[in-house]
Amino acid sequence: MTELTFYGGVGEVGGNKILLDHGKNKIFLDFGKNFGKEKAYYDEPYLAARDQSQLLNLGLLPQIEGIYKGEEEPDIDGVLITHPHLDHWGYTCFLDNDIPLYCGEGTKMIIVNYEQSSSAGPSSDYYLAHLTKTKDKEYKDFRTFRTGDRLDIGDIDVEPVHVDHSVPAAYGYIIRTSSETIAYTGDFRLHGPKADMSEEFIEKASRADPDLLITEGTNITGGHISSEAEVEKKMDLLIGKTPGLVVVSFSQRNIDRLRSVYKVAKNNDRKLAISMKQAFLLKELKNDPHLDIFDIRQNDVIVFGSEKSRRNEWEKRVLDEVELWKGEDINPIQDEVVLTATYYDMNDLMDVDPISGSVFISSQSEAFDEEGEIQHEKLLNWCEHYGLPQYQIHTSGHVLPHQLKGAIEQINPDEVMPVHTDRPKLFKRYMDDLEADIVLPKMNDSLKL
Ligand SMILES: [Zn+2]
Ligand SMILES: [Zn+2]
Repeated sequence: MTELTFYGGVGEVGGNKILLDHGKNKIFLDFGKNFGKEKAYYDEPYLAARDQSQLLNLGLLPQIEGIYKGEEEPDIDGVLITHPHLDHWGYTCFLDNDIPLYCGEGTKMIIVNYEQSSSAGPSSDYYLAHLTKTKDKEYKDFRTFRTGDRLDIGDIDVEPVHVDHSVPAAYGYIIRTSSETIAYTGDFRLHGPKADMSEEFIEKASRADPDLLITEGTNITGGHISSEAEVEKKMDLLIGKTPGLVVVSFSQRNIDRLRSVYKVAKNNDRKLAISMKQAFLLKELKNDPHLDIFDIRQNDVIVFGSEKSRRNEWEKRVLDEVELWKGEDINPIQDEVVLTATYYDMNDLMDVDPISGSVFISSQSEAFDEEGEIQHEKLLNWCEHYGLPQYQIHTSGHVLPHQLKGAIEQINPDEVMPVHTDRPKLFKRYMDDLEADIVLPKMNDSLKL
């Protein structure tokens, strides 16, 4: 018998934390951070949780003994991370370092890179990975896989299958115990450039004849019919008509979007200017032949940032490979540049000094970005200051409702549990004529299968 407890992701987008308890073996499906809930109490960096005890007290972390740092014997056998978005792995820093983190090769690469280039975590005790002149250290027990691998976690057999999402290396899982089969989609989409990967997951899940499908339902309230190809076409059109600088803002880890922006920049004989952090990520991902990433040393790519007297180790590694362009270097050639910048890079635009006729393209979700803390009003103030009108050109990382319904029909599980949606009741009503029972889990409640 298997018991499931939902500690996050129920009636909310992100923060998935689902405990699967099969008696002798226990695993978590994702262990994500919920930005919205944390922001109800905290205001980083002025007020942040110092350790797990505060998050436990506030009910933001599961009240389970024996899994956090400082406990004797970890009581769970691992966490299956679906993909490298913080709302799926962001709280793993609080877990005991002996608990294995299972994830795709690329997922680990992105997580480690993120940790190395940020001062994430409440203190150094909570580092997942760290980079100094002398130390290149991973503190967690990462156990990586590639498509086709099978994982044996005690009596639990896990088959990871790649899916398409707005970040590379996203996986769904087909989990078999001695008594049940459960499929978990993680975050996925069917309208993206690698839709065939998601289709493969659906096909394999269907063949596994699952008792239960746990699926995301983010877009149940916000379906936009669009595609990455359409994003490219629209950007191309706009850039072709722009006499000045083009600034594009999107999630740094959205590599599909980066590829699109690079392509349209090239089409329009413009160089692509990226930030130091983006360059550090690309330098790392270049090692993955599956990802087809361009080289940051190419002469149609420039890395921009401001002068600093002291550099972090990760910055030094970037500057070993490329020369840094400052704002004033970009200023005279800005009509030949597409510059990627988020809200956090707005200071650096000052010396670029955009000429009249320049534009800002917001290429991420309008409302709450999973990764981001884009403060829309503040960004508008910056755009006003620089004289940049804002265009919204984006396609979502999440499956559309009608496609999801088709996918559930094809997988044909006995039961479906929606997570990662703020409107589960809407989901149930919309899906109710399917053969499968739509069951709405409650926060912290255990359901026996
Ligand atoms: Zn998510
Ligand atoms: Zn995601």
